[in-house]
Amino acid sequence: MAADVQARLAELAKLPPGSRPVVSVYLNTRWTDENQRERVRIFLKNHLREARAAVERPADEDLDWIEAQGQRIIAQDAFPDASGVALFAGGDGLRDVLPLRAAFEDAFVVSSTPFLRPFVPSAEEAVSALVVFVDGVSARLVALTSTGPGDEVTLEHEVPGRHRTGGWAALAQNRYQRHIEAHRDQHYQATAEAVAALVERHGLERIVLSGEARAVAIFREHLSTPLARRVAGVVSGARYESPAVIATRAAEFLARRDEHEDAGAVDRLLDAAAKRGRAVAGVAPTLEAVNRNAVQHLYMVRAFEQPGAVCERCGALQPPAPGRCQFCGAATRTAELGEAMVGRVLASGGEVSMIERHGGLADRDGVGAILRYAA
Ligand SMILES: [Zn+2]
Repeated sequence: MAADVQARLAELAKLPPGSRPVVSVYLNTRWTDENQRERVRIFLKNHLREARAAVERPADEDLDWIEAQGQRIIAQDAFPDASGVALFAGGDGLRDVLPLRAAFEDAFVVSSTPFLRPFVPSAEEAVSALVVFVDGVSARLVALTSTGPGDEVTLEHEVPGRHRTGGWAALAQNRYQRHIEAHRDQHYQATAEAVAALVERHGLERIVLSGEARAVAIFREHLSTPLARRVAGVVSGARYESPAVIATRAAEFLARRDEHEDAGAVDRLLDAAAKRGRAVAGVAPTLEAVNRNAVQHLYMVRAFEQPGAVCERCGALQPPAPGRCQFCGAATRTAELGEAMVGRVLASGGEVSMIERHGGLADRDGVGAILRYAA
């Protein structure tokens, strides 16, 4: 995720409840046809109507703003490269629009603080990547940013003209072929050097290759070892496809790969927790770690949801408290623990990963954390 989006997210996570409820709206704008666009439009319309009729209703001016922004986004492709857009309004005058790269479900949530959970998959895509589509005569490089495919550049190699002069002779054809191949080699080498320069200048950690198998294979031979190590994988791609389409495919590939890596990380977490190392698993120990800002990386199954409470005075998260905070005895307000833990960890500079499914983690209430230091 881009540093500015990351910073904005941490700020949103720190916002205390304001004078008005916060409306958080996530609209998936990766529509491939008008039906999908219509579906998003109806989703927004229905939820706005419900919100305007609710007992604990948000302020009209907040809903009006959401409605205007939402309609603009749906009608105009305001962020054509993004997969979706998050809107926040309410609190003490909060107004925010953030385009996002990751795909997420449409959501419309009214709560005391910004609803940030759908954000988390994109927080995990912090590493910017470079997508390289290559064929025998050209290469297209696209940067992947948190808001979608970013800058792109096309490198075009001039292959010497296919003049037919003397082409009837085997020797000439042979020589001609060698010349072409030598130039192709130069093209691949020059592309590799351009990629190396970009990787170094922008500190890119991952490269995704795309193109026909043969072109990709030849190109790989031209990558230096450090560069080759950054190749996260290869996705299909054809010359007629737009760079944005190929880049989106690459982003999805990286997201799937991250999921696998997360599963391995959760295995290690559970192992460390069992040995009382630098990790905890289960709701009670994780809450305790969150409360003392000791969480470096929170792992939570996406379906996690548990009622709980936040102390109005000391801020401690806890299981539903009948009236009083279990630590200081002050009044509490109800809070969903999953969202509350995610917000607290992000606000303290920690990381969060949402896990689709993991048997071992599910057995430990679906939540656990790597700690900054041993418990
Ligand atoms: Zn308290």
